[in-house]
Amino acid sequence: MKTENFDAIVIGGGPIGLASAYHLGKRKAKTLVLEQFTFVNQLGSSAGVSRQFRIPYPDEYMVQMALDSEPYWVELEKESETKLIDKVGTLWFGDPTVQSTEGNIAEAEEALKALNVPYTSLTAKEIEEKYHFKNIPENYTGLFQADGGSINFKATNEALLNLCKKEETVSLEENAPVIAIDQSGELFEVTTPNGKYISKKLVIIPGPYINSVINLLHFKIDATYWNMSSAYFKKNDPNIQYPTWFVFQNNIGENGNQFYGFPSVDWDHPEYIRVAPDFVINPLDEPSERKLIPNAQELGYTSDWVKDHMTGLDPTPEYTSTCLISLSTIPNKELLIDFAPSYVPNHKNIVLYATGWAAKFTPFLGKIMSDLALDGKTNFDITPFQLGHQFFKSTK
Ligand SMILES: Cc1cc2nc3c(=O)[nH]c(=O)nc-3n(C[C@H](O)[C@H](O)[C@H](O)COP(=O)(O)OP(=O)(O)OC[C@H]3O[C@@H](n4cnc5c(N)ncnc54)[C@H](O)[C@@H]3O)c2cc1C
Repeated sequence: MKTENFDAIVIGGGPIGLASAYHLGKRKAKTLVLEQFTFVNQLGSSAGVSRQFRIPYPDEYMVQMALDSEPYWVELEKESETKLIDKVGTLWFGDPTVQSTEGNIAEAEEALKALNVPYTSLTAKEIEEKYHFKNIPENYTGLFQADGGSINFKATNEALLNLCKKEETVSLEENAPVIAIDQSGELFEVTTPNGKYISKKLVIIPGPYINSVINLLHFKIDATYWNMSSAYFKKNDPNIQYPTWFVFQNNIGENGNQFYGFPSVDWDHPEYIRVAPDFVINPLDEPSERKLIPNAQELGYTSDWVKDHMTGLDPTPEYTSTCLISLSTIPNKELLIDFAPSYVPNHKNIVLYATGWAAKFTPFLGKIMSDLALDGKTNFDITPFQLGHQFFKSTK
């Protein structure tokens, strides 16, 4: 068995792990990324192709984080020479009284105003006239924010992988599940079936598999797992175009009734529009329970929504798939960015990102995680995300 020494080991080679390794490499830290499957796999939270970038959030600190992410996307696009976001804008609409896991429209308007982010308020009629929706209840309101867009997340993942390959101090190892973490003095010894690796710092970003890694350090996080469905709908009007959108509605029994959608893009089934439910009927207790075939009821409700409220699309779901995400039990499904809890030896040398909807922050999170690992701090205020004291539990 080989043994090698590193400044930092990143556990989890999804896009956020790779973004962290890329920033560690830019600072010349000797870095190893360990990925249990292959890079750019379909088995974690980054499955599929597209994700939404948006600025509206009900909390000002989240709006700020989205704004702070923008220059890092510009930099990543430049360095990878790849267009990663189609800026078609964000449309949020629906019942103004609804509080969803994404927030509430009126609260988002307040947060946007507080940070001087331009947006337009919309009536139900305007949502129909400008954005091709139909049968929108009269009491619905909306907002349009022009800086949102559809992230080509597969290309993002590939771009980060290629940039990591070019960094002299970054090593990448796939098919390398971390199965043990031991501590010797101030150093960590990380074991995979391929070898043992010594490191000063650990950067833990294993997506929905978070507990399988932190259990090795004798703590866990209370999380629930959503096996989320996704589908594409063929355009029967070839010229129809939508922005990225989200509809806020109260559930009707098992139908969570919140849906989100994407524009038609040339990099992902160009003749189709992706629409997905933002709810799951049966949350999972363990990632191992996930299925690759979507829940038929969730797809049925999505198809009904497309039929009743969208124009220019055939409501038959095609190219269906699932994606697994871990969500904390925090009501608005926050991100957790923190050090390991203080009862873990060397806890300040272990940084973690887990839970929540974070594709839109990928390059910026990479910067934050690398700074936390190397400096123990970051210039960005992460206090709203330092939720470990609430959600980490010792397993000893
Ligand atoms: C259906 C769906 C829609 C979403 N929509 C949006 C959106 O519109 N906008 C947005 O901002 N976010 C969205 N998200 C969230 C976003 O996709 C995730 O936050 C993001 O993909 C997380 O990336 P990651 O690198 O942290 O995790 P992952 O991509 O899951 O990567 C983690 C990696 O760690 C590896 N790993 C785990 N355990 C080990 C181990 N023991 N050893 C080695 N490797 C290990 C895994 O194999 C995996 O490859 C969505 C998520 C889903 C599921």
